[in-house]
Amino acid sequence: MTTRRRFIEIMPLAGAAMLAACSDKKAAAPEPAAPAPEPAPAPVAAATPPPASTAAEVAVTPAAALTPLDEKSEKAVALAYVTDAQRADATKYKTYAAGQACSNCALFQGKAGDVIGPCPLFAGNSVTAKGWCSAYSKKMS
Ligand code: SF4
Repeated sequence: MTTRRRFIEIMPLAGAAMLAACSDKKAAAPEPAAPAPEPAPAPVAAATPPPASTAAEVAVTPAAALTPLDEKSEKAVALAYVTDAQRADATKYKTYAAGQACSNCALFQGKAGDVIGPCPLFAGNSVTAKGWCSAYSKKMS
């Protein structure tokens, strides 16, 4: 009966060995792949204001698309606008000097040589290059 006794003695050890072997296999088995990480959300565009426009970047309506400014209109009269600077009232407007004209005013938006051009003081209208108003400001070259 040595065999039976021996079997009973060995059985717990064999069971433990089997469990250990199984658990080793389990531990050696590769772990299931971790789920792929969620893609990072797209960065939210910073709410940055658009760059400040310079005077050169501001779109200017071509003078041809504008209505010529009427000297008798309320806004023209308010600034003593005349289509020809030679008719400027030099007595009333002491700042006027011969040679001043829209074409050499800092606010004139026409190109050199243009006969008419936009002026921001009279939105929607064009002024004449040889015109003048009391808001004249010498263009710095
Ligand atoms: Fe002419 Fe200058 Fe007067 Fe405009 S602001 S109407 S360009 S003089």
